[in-house]
Amino acid sequence: MCTGVYPGSFDPITNGHIDIIERSAKLFDKLIVAVLNNHDKKSLFTTEERIMMIREATAHIPNIEVEYFCGLLMEFARLKQARVIIRGLRAVSDFEYELQMALMNKKLAEDIETVFIMTNCHYSYLSSSIVKEVASLKGCVKELVPPNVATRLRDKFAD
Ligand code: ADP
Repeated sequence: MCTGVYPGSFDPITNGHIDIIERSAKLFDKLIVAVLNNHDKKSLFTTEERIMMIREATAHIPNIEVEYFCGLLMEFARLKQARVIIRGLRAVSDFEYELQMALMNKKLAEDIETVFIMTNCHYSYLSSSIVKEVASLKGCVKELVPPNVATRLRDKFAD
């Protein structure tokens, strides 16, 4: 049984994340989407809301589990017996942070590999922050996020 973990804040999940999930789910028996439950980081949606939106938007993928984690990702991966962490890479600007994280995680858990999947060129500009910014200004996010997320964003920023 080969398990992968795709960690992130997913505040909220975007079509860029969905693309990475669909592609990496094909590489594993099971892919766990791990939502960071970070109390320090100010998020728009609660952990429960983020998990629910991901579950709804990935219902068409059979080998997905969506869970939250707190603390060290490597501890979570070990607990789940996962040997691979998936991260998406958009632009060169992602690289430095991702390299630092991957090297630190390697130091913490030598048997776990971080594997990077390049963004789909259609979504290379897409991030949760830019989606929130557009939605807060009442811009259309229909093509940027799954329909259930677009609805929740509209509700969140309704007057
Ligand atoms: P974090 O807060 O850990 O950066 P995010 O929720 O922003 O988490 O993203 C989780 C992962 O998905 C990261 O590896 C990020 O680079 C990747 N990602 C985000 N948006 C895209 C996108 N449009 N295309 C490819 N990868 C993406």
